[in-house]
This record gives sequence, structure tokens and C-alpha cells, in this order.
Amino acid sequence: MTPEEFREAGHRLIDWIADYRASLESKPVMSTLEPGEVKAMFPTSPPLHAQGFDQVFRDLDEKIVPGLSLWQHPQFFGYFPANAPLESVLGDYLSTGLGVLGLAWQSSPALTELEEVVLDWLRQMVGLSSEWSGVIQDTASTGSLVALLCARERTTNYGLSRGGLQAETKPLIVYGSAQAHSSVDKAALLAGFGRDNVRYVETDEDFAIKPESLERAIQTDLELGLQPCTIIATTGTTATTAFDPIRPMAAIATRYGVWLHVDAAMAGSAMILPEMRHLWAGVEGADSIVINPHKWLGAAFDCSTYYVRDPEHLVRVMSTNPSFLQTDADGRVKNYRDWGIPLGRRFRALKLWTLILSQGVEGLQTRLRRDLENARWLEAQVRAAPGWKVLAPVALQTVCVRHEPPGLEGESLDSYTQGWAARVNRSGDAYLTPATLEGRWMVRVSVGAVDTEHRHVEALWRVMQREAANQRTL
Ligand code: PLP
Repeated sequence: MTPEEFREAGHRLIDWIADYRASLESKPVMSTLEPGEVKAMFPTSPPLHAQGFDQVFRDLDEKIVPGLSLWQHPQFFGYFPANAPLESVLGDYLSTGLGVLGLAWQSSPALTELEEVVLDWLRQMVGLSSEWSGVIQDTASTGSLVALLCARERTTNYGLSRGGLQAETKPLIVYGSAQAHSSVDKAALLAGFGRDNVRYVETDEDFAIKPESLERAIQTDLELGLQPCTIIATTGTTATTAFDPIRPMAAIATRYGVWLHVDAAMAGSAMILPEMRHLWAGVEGADSIVINPHKWLGAAFDCSTYYVRDPEHLVRVMSTNPSFLQTDADGRVKNYRDWGIPLGRRFRALKLWTLILSQGVEGLQTRLRRDLENARWLEAQVRAAPGWKVLAPVALQTVCVRHEPPGLEGESLDSYTQGWAARVNRSGDAYLTPATLEGRWMVRVSVGAVDTEHRHVEALWRVMQREAANQRTL
């Protein structure tokens, strides 16, 4: 494709995306295709002859769009907001269009230095002190893995340069709660801690870790001759957006010389609102933090940020220095390959930069405050409606609900709950995520898509009541 051909196809593609975004509200939110239907529409072998972009546009309309569940739809209340406002989309295009890679500072100085600038902006936006330095990772799963590797290496005094975990005499222990995200569990297993050495600390009635139970678990492990290594605090858990109490957890981490990692993947965005920062009070006492701007904040996926207080330790754990990557600038610059796992890095800072530049901190704050208000409005409706329950504190923008008609309990209540949630999703009028909480099914309503206004939340509440009533009459 020549630059002129690119110009023509590119204009057409931007028009196509603009039309797609403008028409989202009239489309069903969830794809209703059966497994395998999309695959069956494509040839099983690659085309021998060039097809051209006309074919791409035909396939987009006929085969791909029907197979999409629409995360940017204003009636999307599933999982979590994964906002991709168009200014950030353009930043992402730029990254690909520029076609540069960050292997070392010298391999594209602007790639590194804009990342430094934008992560320092974000640090200030969420109210962290200048003690913190950040780097962009692909996802929070990677950030938490890096955190656990750093914790492991601090506890073992760089055991990786000797016999690694296999040479340790005492098993290293990780502490989180059953409400922590599955990525933390996965990171602990991948980092070699082993299932037997992951502790799920008791939580309180608000699903937050009980600090006294955490301390007791650490003391028990010490008495058994084990080695406490890492505590994971979650700022906005996945099921209910619960907030673990960071200040007392940080005090415990200091007392026992244990690494404290804060998973603020979801709720980190909320910290751009000064009035929400009490929810992570004490965060300055942590060792590492993950925040996902690719969730509620609106940096198009993927853009997860990882902040540390001790970058030298991070670099010592992660660095590789083959001769072909060495340059005269080393020692005076950041080489972000030493701040994470991949060597080749995309220019992800561009999409965070275009987002912040276009919307300003105030614009982002206004949108997040709107979503918090909408979630509180829905909470009030649910609490006031007979038979409906709010199952967890609405600290953020997620409302966990159940409709409990008289006479329904246990497994019958579970299948009723899953039934009406599936009806809402199949209707195409809204998208919700059912999940279990304390062993029983409930429905999570995650408010916060960029285009979700108050009227959309009102419409959702009507759809929930309608489909619960329809399920009841079965
Ligand atoms: N941590 C929390 C609290 C989350 O809610 C999520 C995603 O839902 C993750 C981690 C994982 O995020 P990622 O997809 O960026 O790995």
C-alpha cells in the first residue's frame, strides 16, 4: 500500500469507525451469535490473490460487526468500563502509524521521554508524591507479575543471581484476599510461589481485608518457619469494588519487612478526584501500585501503569544488557526495557497523552463524577424497590444487586438471578455481568461507559425490572 492508497483507505476507515460509533445506541449491546458462527463465515485457507480493502470493508459489515459485544455502547454495564474515547483511539493509531519501537532510549527517544512526562502527569493527577516513578505495561496482570517478581527478589536478596527460588530454604508466602483479582493469583503461581504458599486473608462484611487477620496469618507463618514475602491490597475489587485498608496494611508490611503491592487497576482512575482519595489512604506506604487507565479513565486498551518507589530495585531485577542494546546514552536515560518483561515496546504513551491533552484533567473529573452520581441514583432505586437488594457498599460506580422474590432461595434463587440477567443480555437493551458473592449469584452493574448518561441508567433500571418480572412468570 502506498502512502496515497493509505490516505484513501484510511479516510474511508475513519469514516467507517465514526459511523459505527455514532450508530452504537441503535445496536444490540451483546452479540447473540453462537460459538463458531464468526469462524464459519471466513474461508478456511488464506487467499492466494490480493483482495484489496473493499473486501475488508465487506467483511467488517457482514462478518465482524455481528460478532461484537459493544463495550463502547451507552447501555454497556458489564465487567468494567473499558473506555476508548476517540481522542485516545487517534493516539493509538499514531502509535501504529509511526511504527517505532522502544528497545532502548536511543531506538526512539520520544517514545521513552513522552512516557516519562505522561506518567508523571498521571502521578500528579492521582495525588501520588514525587517519590513514585511509573512505566506503562500492557495489562495489570503483567504489572502484578512484575510486582511479585520484585517482592520475591527483595526478600531473597536477589536469589535470581544464584539458585533462584529453588535454592531458598524457607517457602515464601503471599497474602491477599479471596476478593483479589484472579490475575494476582496467577502472578503468584507464575512467579513460582506455589499454590500452597498463597494465603487468602479473611475479609469483613464490606469484603475488605481485616488487618488483624492479616497480621495473625503472618505471625502463624513465622512460627511455622515460613518467610512472609508479599501483601496484595486491592483498591476496588473486581466483584464489588471493595477497598482494602491500605494504611494498617502498610504498617504491617513495614513491621514484618514485607512488600506491599496495591492493585488499583479499577479504582486508581477514581483517584483523580480528590474527594475519593480517602479510599486509598496510606498508599504512600506501598512498594508498588498498578493503575489501569485502559479501564474507566479512557486510554484505549491496552495501557496499564505500574508505579514503584524504588526504580533501582526494579531495574536490577529486570535488566538485561546485551551488546547490541548498549548505547552512549546509557546511564543518562531510562531504558524502559529494564522496567518490565518485554524488550520491544509500543508507543503506548501517545494514547494517554492525546486523552489527557484533549479532555484536560477537569473534563475527565467531570465524567467520573457523573458516573458516581448515576451509580448512587441506581443504588437508591434498587434499595427502595420491594424485593430488590444492594449487596455491597457502593463505594465507586459498581452496584451489586439481587432480586429476591418471596419464597425463592438457595439454588432456585441462583437460577432465577442468572435467568433474568441472561434475559437482559439477550434482549440487546443492556449488558450486565452476573457473578457469585459469598457463594450465591448476584448481578453486577458497572456504570461508566463514556456515553452513558443518566437516561441510560434509568433505561437500564426499567429493563432489569422488566426482565426480572418476565423470568418470574416462567
Ligand atoms: N485487577 C483488578 C482489580 C481488576 O478489576 C482487573 C480487571 O478486571 C485486573 C486486575 C486485570 O486487569 P488486566 O486485564 O489489565 O490484566
